[in-house]
Amino acid sequence: MKGVVKYLKKYTFLIILAITFVVIQAILNLYLPDLMGDIVNKGVSRGNVDYILSVGWKMLFVTLLNVAAAIVSTYFAAKVAMGFGKDLRSHVYKKVMNFSLNEVDKYGVATLINRNTNDITQIQNVIFMMLRMVALAPVMAIGGTIMAISKSPKLTMVLLVSLPIMFVVMYFIVKYSMPLFKSMQKKLDNLNRVLRENLTGVRVIRAFAKTEYEKKRFEVANEDLTSTALKVNRIFALVFPLILLIMNFTIIFLIWIGAIQIDKGTLEVGTMMAVMQYIMQIMFSFIMISVVFIFLPRASASAERVAQVLNEKERIKDVKSPKKLEGMGKVEFKNVTFYYEGGKEPAIENANFEINPGEVVGIIGSSGSGKSTLVKLLMRFYDVTSGEILIDGVNIKELSQKDLRDMISFTPSRPVIFSGTIEENVRIGKEDATEEEIVEALKTAQAWEFVSKLPEGIKTQVSQGGTNLSGGQKQRLAIARGIVGKRKIYIFDDSFSALDFKTDAKLRKELREKLKDATKIIVSLRVATVMNADKIIVLDKGRVVGIGTHKKLMKSCEVYREIVSSQLSEEEIA
Ligand code: ADP
Ligand code: MG
Repeated sequence: MKGVVKYLKKYTFLIILAITFVVIQAILNLYLPDLMGDIVNKGVSRGNVDYILSVGWKMLFVTLLNVAAAIVSTYFAAKVAMGFGKDLRSHVYKKVMNFSLNEVDKYGVATLINRNTNDITQIQNVIFMMLRMVALAPVMAIGGTIMAISKSPKLTMVLLVSLPIMFVVMYFIVKYSMPLFKSMQKKLDNLNRVLRENLTGVRVIRAFAKTEYEKKRFEVANEDLTSTALKVNRIFALVFPLILLIMNFTIIFLIWIGAIQIDKGTLEVGTMMAVMQYIMQIMFSFIMISVVFIFLPRASASAERVAQVLNEKERIKDVKSPKKLEGMGKVEFKNVTFYYEGGKEPAIENANFEINPGEVVGIIGSSGSGKSTLVKLLMRFYDVTSGEILIDGVNIKELSQKDLRDMISFTPSRPVIFSGTIEENVRIGKEDATEEEIVEALKTAQAWEFVSKLPEGIKTQVSQGGTNLSGGQKQRLAIARGIVGKRKIYIFDDSFSALDFKTDAKLRKELREKLKDATKIIVSLRVATVMNADKIIVLDKGRVVGIGTHKKLMKSCEVYREIVSSQLSEEEIA
């Protein structure tokens, strides 16, 4: 709980208000049985109607006050709990948005979503409950005991029997349900993960006729959660009858002892009734406290999960006084080696190369050779394990991440399309882009040809994930987004893979012209895409095995020759 409780501080005043009204409510609660005892003793048993009426009005008034206090305190408690939940969600969200890919890899998306929704809901519910009960229960229990003893110490002795029984019962309930609640959270994570994978991969699942298999997988996860939830519910199904039983026995016991005393003339009926109510109140207080004990561990497990995210050390942090860049965007990799978290083999091993401003650089290599890793390092999505990456002679670790990323445009291999219009999707690349600029970018990206044919042009809605677009269309939109803003360096990570050769060639020609002064880094599996680059970097198993023009590499680089001969015919090579 500690990790998140500090965010409650700003609600101190509201918390005090909520608790104050709860205490008022509790005191009014304690007053009612007293009045009732009086009505019976002095009114009913003596046939004094006026007295009954006057105390009756008083009781009605106290009850109304009681309700009002309950409403007011609930209002403040809800305000605190909901406000706190909202704050916490936005803190977690901000934190996660600042995560490097390292941290995202570590947690996984499903649990990050869960932690920011379900877990925070648990915490917020418990805070609400605590605000309502934590003050109410002790005041009622202690006040009730004092009142009951003052009326009839003998009758109050009943508690000595029923409270211990209640304790034992509640102890076992708390003990058995706590671990179940904790494991429910994990199972919910798992269910969400499967659900997410299935929904995003629904087409693949159908294509491979894996629907049955995936259904099973979902059912297993669902079943798992359900069986735990059922266990919890079974326990609770037992709780209420059990508690009622204890309470009813207490009442019987009390009436029995009371009746003997009334018979002897040492006790009045009204007093017995009042004590009975106090004892009920005391027992209810203990139930309330045990309920808090049941939900508290669950919420504290949630709080731990949330705090873990909030306290996650950001591995990629800006230096205190980041340097500014003035140069043209010269990129240098010096002895760069990089291991993914837990990876045994380096994904990039001792890479050394330079990219001059304005150059078109191709990066080629088989799938898994480290091409994407290389550009992600340049974007500082991950930090190098050793060596350094310099831009205009400055280590990228000494730049602010914002400056670095403002300078580089990155178009990932898998285009990310958001729900919204085509225009909005492109605008992500430059917030204040004019419509002309957007159309211009779409034209350069060879996307205008299909966008212009759409009924609503750039105002056409695309669905989340761009499912109403083809792969090539999505890529071209992503490219348009990448080039709409002016940057010093443009990276296209395998962004042309879904384009046909003709579009690919036309696009590269336009990029060369439109982004003349900028450095263009084009990652591809296809020789044709990088062949005309000023410089080609050949990667093999994370190592740079060749740097140079197509011609030079054909002579000197075995790996490159192999890639080329596997893709191009003799005439194309020459
Ligand atoms: P390419 O883009 O050339 O196909 P990548 O740079 O994506 O290759 O991957 C290079 C190597 O690093 C591969 O062996 C891959 O399995 C590994 N790898 C890629 N991403 C991760 C990751 N997030 N965590 C661990 N290993 C990764
Ligand atoms: Mg890749």
